[in-house]
Amino acid sequence: MKDLDPNEFDVETLAIRTAQLRTDEMAHSDPIFLTSSFVYESAAQAAARFGGEEPGNIYSRFTNPTVRAFEQRLAALEGGEACVAFASGMAAIAGTFFSLLAPGDHVVSSRSVFGTTNVVFDRYLKKFGIETTMVDLKDLSSWEAAIRPETKLLFLETPSNPLSEIGDIAALAKLAHDNGALLVVDNCFCTPALQKPLELGADIIIHSATKYLDGQGRCLGGAVVGAKPQMDEVLGFVRSAGACMSPFNAWVFLKGLETLSLRMEAQSARTLELAQWLETQPGIARVHYAGLSSHPQHELAGQQQSAYGAVMSIEVEDAAGNRDRQAAWRFIDATKMISITANLGDVKTTVTHPASTTHGRVAEEEKRRAGVTENLIRLAIGLESVKDLKADLERGLKALASA
Ligand SMILES: *Cc1c(COP(=O)(O)O)cnc(C)c1O
Repeated sequence: MKDLDPNEFDVETLAIRTAQLRTDEMAHSDPIFLTSSFVYESAAQAAARFGGEEPGNIYSRFTNPTVRAFEQRLAALEGGEACVAFASGMAAIAGTFFSLLAPGDHVVSSRSVFGTTNVVFDRYLKKFGIETTMVDLKDLSSWEAAIRPETKLLFLETPSNPLSEIGDIAALAKLAHDNGALLVVDNCFCTPALQKPLELGADIIIHSATKYLDGQGRCLGGAVVGAKPQMDEVLGFVRSAGACMSPFNAWVFLKGLETLSLRMEAQSARTLELAQWLETQPGIARVHYAGLSSHPQHELAGQQQSAYGAVMSIEVEDAAGNRDRQAAWRFIDATKMISITANLGDVKTTVTHPASTTHGRVAEEEKRRAGVTENLIRLAIGLESVKDLKADLERGLKALASA
């Protein structure tokens, strides 16, 4: 197993060639070590392993070679010292908080984060005496105003879901560090193929591997990347809490990483083309996508991302001028190829009505503040041809025109 120097090679190359697993069988593709435990040459060796005097595998909740290969490869892609894999993105998020925070600590988080992340803040961290203040992702002064002496962690996703708003990673990293806090970025929407938050000053990266790292909608997984001392804390937690990644899933993610850059570039290019086209269509009141020059933070997105990602949202309007749920549902139901599902990160294009699904249980006022209006539709663009995607979206536009 040759390891490549992450400073010398590009993300595309590292995603294919670093942390390659190779046994004496010399298989070209990474093998899967689908085993719960490992055996020893002798009772003395078992004792030495358990006592920590001899390095080596014991049990797959602690270490597994396939999971380790995934961790090393993702750490190299993000440019981090170490990575800890988890059973899901939510396990990675909750695990990071429970490893690094203590009662009395305070968190400042963007209001526009994954819905279940909000549940972790509101229900579980609060129960253990950790308070969270929610702020507007775009508004640096609201982050600044929310900081307290006990603030330990700033948390965000950028671009945001579903409105494609951008957080200024470098500015927020500086704010965090000036106040003795860590900046944690959920890099799920961009992946290291498009955005490297650690290079911009962030301290910890979180992934839902379920999305683009897999890329084909097969497995649940998550990961955390950062400096060794913090990742040691996180590793201690995952070993005790047991939210570890399955070796089978790690193998799927290793294969997914091999095509990550290609998929992210191709899916971003399709999304940009469709966003530009949708912006000119009657029935479309607004397109939210940071790749459009009409997006208020287009320039900032271009500074910190190499492409704009594959998620956009649109606000629809029917022929009578209604911008309501009925118009949105009519558009969605008129498509025949695109999948109606809340998932994203797949090569299959998906369409979602956030107000009645992902944000369905969010209070009306919160929804309004998050910009999740009744006529908003989220599109996560996959790898089908642009021609066929346009034809399917045109069915939705026609349904709006005939209303
Ligand atoms: C899906 C998602 C998560 C949660 O990941 P799971 O793998 O479903 O647990 C966290 N953050 C973002 C941005 C997501 O899209």
